[in-house]
Amino acid sequence: QREAGVLEPALQAADGALVTEREGWEFDAQLAADELARQFAVASLEGFGLGADDQAAIGVAGALLRYLRELQPGGLPHLARPVVERPGGVMPLDEMTRRNLELVESLRGGDVAGTLLSVLDHTTTPMGQRLLRQWLLAPLLERAAIEQRQRAVTVLVRDPVGRAALRDALDGVRDVERLASKAAASRATPRELRALGDSLARLPRVASAVRALLGNAPTGGVLAEMMAAWDDGADCAARITATLVERPPLMIGEEDTIAPGVDAELDELRALRDGGKDAIATIQQQERARTGITSLKVGYNKVFGYFLEISNANRHLVPDDYQRRQTLTGAERYITPALKEYEEKVLSAAERIESRERELFEQLRREAGDAIARWQGVARRVATIDVLTSLAEVAERAQYVCPVLHDGFDLEIIAGRHPVVEQMMAREQFIPNDLQLAEEAQLIVLTGPNMAGKSTILRQIGLIQLMAQVGSYVPARAARLPVVDRLFTRVGASDNLVRGQSTFMVEMSETSAILHTATKRSLVLLDEIGRGTSTYDGVSIAWSVSEHLHDAIGCKTVFATHYHELTQLESELSGVRNFTVAVREVGDRVLFLHQLIPGGADRSYGIEVGRLAGLPAPVITRAKEVLALLEGEGEQMAARLTADGMQAPSSTRRRGPRMKHQVPSDQLGFFGEAPSVPAPVDEAAQALKATVAALDVDSMTPLQALTTLAGLKHELGDRI
Ligand code: ATP
Repeated sequence: QREAGVLEPALQAADGALVTEREGWEFDAQLAADELARQFAVASLEGFGLGADDQAAIGVAGALLRYLRELQPGGLPHLARPVVERPGGVMPLDEMTRRNLELVESLRGGDVAGTLLSVLDHTTTPMGQRLLRQWLLAPLLERAAIEQRQRAVTVLVRDPVGRAALRDALDGVRDVERLASKAAASRATPRELRALGDSLARLPRVASAVRALLGNAPTGGVLAEMMAAWDDGADCAARITATLVERPPLMIGEEDTIAPGVDAELDELRALRDGGKDAIATIQQQERARTGITSLKVGYNKVFGYFLEISNANRHLVPDDYQRRQTLTGAERYITPALKEYEEKVLSAAERIESRERELFEQLRREAGDAIARWQGVARRVATIDVLTSLAEVAERAQYVCPVLHDGFDLEIIAGRHPVVEQMMAREQFIPNDLQLAEEAQLIVLTGPNMAGKSTILRQIGLIQLMAQVGSYVPARAARLPVVDRLFTRVGASDNLVRGQSTFMVEMSETSAILHTATKRSLVLLDEIGRGTSTYDGVSIAWSVSEHLHDAIGCKTVFATHYHELTQLESELSGVRNFTVAVREVGDRVLFLHQLIPGGADRSYGIEVGRLAGLPAPVITRAKEVLALLEGEGEQMAARLTADGMQAPSSTRRRGPRMKHQVPSDQLGFFGEAPSVPAPVDEAAQALKATVAALDVDSMTPLQALTTLAGLKHELGDRI
């Protein structure tokens, strides 16, 4: 509930989402509780696991129900009962982290290519594909639950032959969930109902493939859980496949839908229809013999029914008892009483066949639809098996390892890789990296030139941690990981112009959200905080954010930055370690080694990257000259300041960053010269000054003073 016309930020965030506004009263919890109870024919909602604390959820469910009723005025007889999902078991992932890690949508274009989902998706069924997506967006928080998934993946990894048999059995299982809900809504076509039956009929093969896999395994984890509750709907499958013909039409009508032998009445009607058709064929023979017209033929159309067609050349041979019905350019069409008699038999049989088929089909569809809750369970189990198989498939193909999870703090990855980036390169080209975060080294400041691979390492850590909590194997040689309560990934470059906020503002509010929500058990990955503002502001913010994460929160953090000033944090805070991504300088060229090594970068390599990107040679040469000048100037200035005693080096822990050039901001003119451009005059301030100076305060009444003040404020508002 909110004020009219003001959309919640969360709704605004869902770009392109269709928003239907509803009245506030529709969300009333009491009203909703009554309506839900009536809809699902229960005395109270407690049976759904809803209690006094769930007023908001009840209100929303009620509003949703009302909306659905408007869409389906005919009623909602097959709505499944609501299931309460408590977020307790899964990690909430904010939009920023989902986007930056490119879990299910790429940053560019928002499609699936280039995402974690695209790498992990070897599912064979649409249900599996949807569930994998859900799993990636909801990593688990309980180690026991994660390990249950891991065990299942291990069973599947260790038996490639068994896994291939299972994948083969799953192949061809259609979307049981969607087909069943269409049946429940009386919308499934004969072909769709048959697809449901055929899919269910494949499930015993799935079950025996899983049982074979479990037979060799000491513990089956989630796979064993799925089998414990297994139901392949064999009874319903048999009924559907026996009732419908093998390839039913899209609609009941001209072609048969119900198989022969299912219904005696239908079989009888069909015999009648077919008998009529035979009789009509016989009439053609008889009439040809009687009239001597060999080209005479029996035809049928919807308007005139059955007729005898005789070409104009033979018109003179037409017997008297023929009644003309239709004249064409080259022929005439006739009927005879005998033909009409059989026509009636055939047509009325066809009509009755259609209505009987419809009756039988609808009954079958109702039976299937009524068991919707059962099919949802079947679909969930099939999807789970499919996802686990997919995770095992990719684990083997891409050589992932099973991470060891623990309840402690430390995170250790040996030879970790970025699951998506490594796939975009030729084999073995991706350079793996080790990483450790521990109580005594909880915050890593990661510096290094552009293009070195900082963002890749940062995201790779996030992805490995997330994959581990999904229950997947991870791209590394070994990994010992904690179960984190939250994972935050903020990457500087994401701009949010679409939402009408400045890049820097977005960056700050995202950072603020992290600082307010992260706990000691969280993993925070920051890429370039404070870049959208002046260098001094940026470094100051980056510095204090790091201090806060280290001191007040104490979470595991990796902070990638271009500000090499931040490497000083290592000597000031006990839990900070500097790392850099190695580059080798060969002559005046830079070779990116993509290798994480201890230590901090002492300089950036922006100019080299500029050269790589093709900046014109004179621009590169000039940039190098300017850099040399700036660096020389900085050193001179620093020396002068120290000599003047202005830089009072302090050994206290809170000394803050030393800028490379250590120049007070008012002396930051280019190369130390006095600023050549005068500061811009603030016209608003000047005007205000003049007005205030002209006021005769002594002669004013309090009311006049107040009005004048309001006027000034108003004027100021216009100018700023
Ligand atoms: P910037 O500071 O400009 O954002 P960066 O240091 O974050 O750069 P990345 O974007 O992570 O650099 O990496 C640049 C490119 O280097 C990647 O697109 C990838 O092709 C390559 N790369 C990164 N890491 C590795 C690696 N470990 N092995 C091989 N290639 C890598």
